[in-house]
Amino acid sequence: MGPRAIFFDKDGTLIEDVPFNVDVSKIKFSNGADFAIQKLKDLFQFHIVTNQKGIALGLFQEIDLTFVRNKMAHMFQELGGELHGFHYCPHGPEDGCECRKPGSLMLEKAAKEHGIILQRSWMIGDILDDIEAGKRAGCKTILINNGHETEWVMNEFREPDHVAQDLFGAALIILAQEWRL
Ligand SMILES: [Mg+2]
Ligand SMILES: [Zn+2]
Repeated sequence: MGPRAIFFDKDGTLIEDVPFNVDVSKIKFSNGADFAIQKLKDLFQFHIVTNQKGIALGLFQEIDLTFVRNKMAHMFQELGGELHGFHYCPHGPEDGCECRKPGSLMLEKAAKEHGIILQRSWMIGDILDDIEAGKRAGCKTILINNGHETEWVMNEFREPDHVAQDLFGAALIILAQEWRL
């Protein structure tokens, strides 16, 4: 049996949302992230899957995301965890790419690369595009309902399996599923 993963949306889910930020000094874990990482690190790989249209818009460059990735990898290490993958879509919504969430390509590529069993993995995000990406990949999904989703356009892939207030709640949901096994 291969590894399982938690796929985190980055902005507004794993870290506090600062729009188009690549200043590493402004990267702060969101509420409960430390708990989730510490409690889940022995059970799951951790992967970030993030849309970064700021690149398409020319607001920053891919090299800036390298610094963001390194900073976040360090933040995981400080909690005794490991960031196994940092996957981003550099395109805009009009570019017609397959990687941008709600597409599931970032998750599928990560799974191929790391041997991850998607059906036993989780996607956690703060908008329904994250949920759709996770469900299209075959993962279980948790919506962090912190007010960031405002449109609520629904389809069969946009119904989250669970809803939590923050990553503390999300971690408890995942742990409860583990204990049921
Ligand atoms: Mg987000
Ligand atoms: Zn893309």
